[in-house]
Amino acid sequence: MSPATTGIVDLRSDTVTRPTAAMRRAMAEAEVGDDWYGDDPTVNRLQDAAAEATGRQAAIYLPTGTLCNQIAVHAFVRAGRFVVCESTSHVGGTEAASSAALSGIAFHRVPGRSAGLLDADQVAAALVPDPYDVDVTDLVTLENTHQRGGGSVMPVASVAAIAAVCAGRKVPLYLDGARIFNAAVATGVTVTDYAARVDAMMFCLSKGLGAPIGSLLVGDAEFIREARRLKVLYGAAWRQAGIMAAAGLIALAEGPKRLHEDHANARRLALGVAEIVPEAVDPAATATNIVFADVTGTGHDVGEWRQRLAGHGVLVTMVAGRIRMLTHADVTAADVDTALAAWRKVAADLGAGAVSAAG
Ligand SMILES: *Cc1c(COP(=O)(O)O)cnc(C)c1O
Repeated sequence: MSPATTGIVDLRSDTVTRPTAAMRRAMAEAEVGDDWYGDDPTVNRLQDAAAEATGRQAAIYLPTGTLCNQIAVHAFVRAGRFVVCESTSHVGGTEAASSAALSGIAFHRVPGRSAGLLDADQVAAALVPDPYDVDVTDLVTLENTHQRGGGSVMPVASVAAIAAVCAGRKVPLYLDGARIFNAAVATGVTVTDYAARVDAMMFCLSKGLGAPIGSLLVGDAEFIREARRLKVLYGAAWRQAGIMAAAGLIALAEGPKRLHEDHANARRLALGVAEIVPEAVDPAATATNIVFADVTGTGHDVGEWRQRLAGHGVLVTMVAGRIRMLTHADVTAADVDTALAAWRKVAADLGAGAVSAAG
């Protein structure tokens, strides 16, 4: 059943979108081959389109963004070496056990100065060589937009400044660009501009771009050749993946055109929640499609807020003690109003926030 028919507003993630009718048609009619042999024509077309869209030599289509990150880490970093990352980044947090298990590496976590964003001075400090040559860093990673940072955007000038520091130390720079198209829309800078500053980058088709499955890892031809080897090694040579890639091609071509709507809806949501529960949200911090609300000031547990919102048909997640909400292709402006009505009801039921204060 579609969200429209269930009356549920699903703000848990931008991964929850259902494929469009055009995607389902393309999937049904997809020309396929065996991707283990590299002869699935639809996968190959998607990889070529991704390389072109990012201005890089080559791309590889993989089932998840996590696998893109893990393959990149494995390709760039030797076991027993360090990866510099932001403290609350996906790769150094959610995926840390994966990197430990698959690559035997360790993270050097640096807290971002604001909203999860590192600056060049911090990276330079992290890359000062160990005088005893014991702690060696093989890779620096960035995340843009930054999920835990509330969808914050790193300007391309900051990426360039960090890239210069990395080049000075001969340490490669990797960009977890799961939502790089959101960053591009928010800044007006192209994805190509971001991709040109780093050694390799990944982005998700399965998030704001709206595909059911899939992510792309892009970089130099030699790097992608190694990534192909690791894809097979990790058991991800996914045969007639053209079925999925067919939807991915539509997501890549059409998805970026509507991301500004998600950003406008997120802003509307942030402004609305800030009216209902002042102090919970800083609407000025909502740059893309992610809204975090800190409801601890209401005296009610975040889990209780989540459960009560779900009772009113609005699904949210709890991340690091806060409520997280994402807008996406299956959330309309009317759905945002439905979500805000639910927030108002829960605030009234709990006697919390501006709603109760106003009676
Ligand atoms: C979602 C996400 C990933 C992982 O992508 P999956 O396809 O869910 O594995 C990696 N990094 C960031 C910043 C993400 O938001």
